[in-house]
Amino acid sequence: MVAATVMAALTFVALYNSRQDEFNHAMENSRNLVAIISSDLARSVTLYDLSLRSAVTDAERPETWTLSPYLRQRVLFDRGLGSPISVDAYIVDAQGHVKASLSGNTYPGLSFAHRDYFTVQQNNPSAGLYISNPYQSQVRNGALAVALTRRINTPDGAFDGVALVSIRIEYFVHLLDNIELGTHGAGVIVLDNGTLIASRPAAHRGIGSNYANTSNFASIASHQSGSFVSDGSLDGVSRLYTYAHVPGTPLIVAIAPAVEDVLADWRKRNMLAGAMTVLFGGAYVVVAWLFAFALRDKARAESELQRIAATDALTGLSNRRAFDRRLAQEWRRAQREQTPLSLLFIDIDHFKRFNDTYGHATGDEVLTVVAERITSGTRRAVDLAARYGGEEFAVVLPNTSLEGAIKVAEKIRKRVESAGLEHKDTQSGHVTISVGCASCKPPEGGSAAALLAAADAQLYVAKAGGRNRVAWQTGAVQAVA
Ligand code: GH3
Ligand code: MG
Ligand code: MG
Repeated sequence: MVAATVMAALTFVALYNSRQDEFNHAMENSRNLVAIISSDLARSVTLYDLSLRSAVTDAERPETWTLSPYLRQRVLFDRGLGSPISVDAYIVDAQGHVKASLSGNTYPGLSFAHRDYFTVQQNNPSAGLYISNPYQSQVRNGALAVALTRRINTPDGAFDGVALVSIRIEYFVHLLDNIELGTHGAGVIVLDNGTLIASRPAAHRGIGSNYANTSNFASIASHQSGSFVSDGSLDGVSRLYTYAHVPGTPLIVAIAPAVEDVLADWRKRNMLAGAMTVLFGGAYVVVAWLFAFALRDKARAESELQRIAATDALTGLSNRRAFDRRLAQEWRRAQREQTPLSLLFIDIDHFKRFNDTYGHATGDEVLTVVAERITSGTRRAVDLAARYGGEEFAVVLPNTSLEGAIKVAEKIRKRVESAGLEHKDTQSGHVTISVGCASCKPPEGGSAAALLAAADAQLYVAKAGGRNRVAWQTGAVQAVA
């Protein structure tokens, strides 16, 4: 699971990084577009301003106004001003009336005195180049336009009118038309006072509306250039905004592809990778668990088999094989650690008679009861009681002296006797056992078999001594050496 999680985490980190790359790529792309539009605007404004400056200089010369209308027009207006369809130029007098125009028309009765640029230039001798808010042209059937304006002075510095180049909004919209914005992208040109000049797609509130109070504009106005993601509070589309102020002008250009469009390719490419990671990671974990369960079941089955192989089916005690193995182990340990090792050999008295009297099945029940009494008589976890064969039992008592072994033997004997299992054919009238005890500190070269034989011999001593008793050998060490 850890491996799958780490692998999935690494994949998702890689996916996240490539998502960032996609963002960075889109931002770089937008920066380039903004730079192109911005330099286009800056160049146009510079050129129009040059024309305006020369128009102002000429308009301020009295002799200009003594020329014929044709020559005057030639002198005032730069022929490089461009297509008369999108650009027009005027000299307006101090009352706001047209004195001369690029088109040659004079528009009698028309006044520009209410325009923002007129008021600004009239009131502020040092306004310089002023770019107006968008307005509806009075001379072009209400077409939207923006005016680049400069003040004309009388020889004594008083206000004498305005020179203006009017640029149709189409010019700005056209700059945005030629760029690739994606399905939900947006592009805007705004004045630094928040007034919208051009947008793509067409702005909900329309050209000329003011966005100064929106959070997007606040971000854009505060820095010369930059990028940010906006959650799309205006139309619900989250976009990646990249913007720059056009140098030397109050214009700001912003390009904002939709986050959805920016990530569309990335999504397409990486959906599969993500899905595969989850799928294979999941499959890996499932298979690992299945293996783990299978291994656990196998281990359980094996240990159960081992337990069965080492257990006597009737009594639940260890069988002779397990006893022999354990005795050999304990013998080696006692030899190593020089601790005493004791053995009990237990045999049920007159059991043949019991079987003959009560039947073999009842005999089996007695064997079970005796086994239980032996087990409950040996308390320590290291002690091992086993059914040695038939109605004979053996107990290994590691790290136990002969005195301790005799005590255990006597305890077991009493427990069997006090079970009160009827055995009519005997002196006591109950089932009893005889126990042979042997103990030693395993000497070099000695063997466990000798200790077993010593215990067996003591069992016969107990039988010969009248049964229902414990017998033990003295000088055990010598006996098994
Ligand atoms: P002693 O007091 O001298 O030990 O007399 P005993 O009759 O117990 O001696 P012996 O060894 O001659 O007899 C053992 C009997 O134990 C033989 C058999 O009837 C009985 N026996 C051995 N294994 C089983 C068993 O698994 N179940 C039953 N019911 N009886 C068994
Ligand atoms: Mg026997
Ligand atoms: Mg017996």
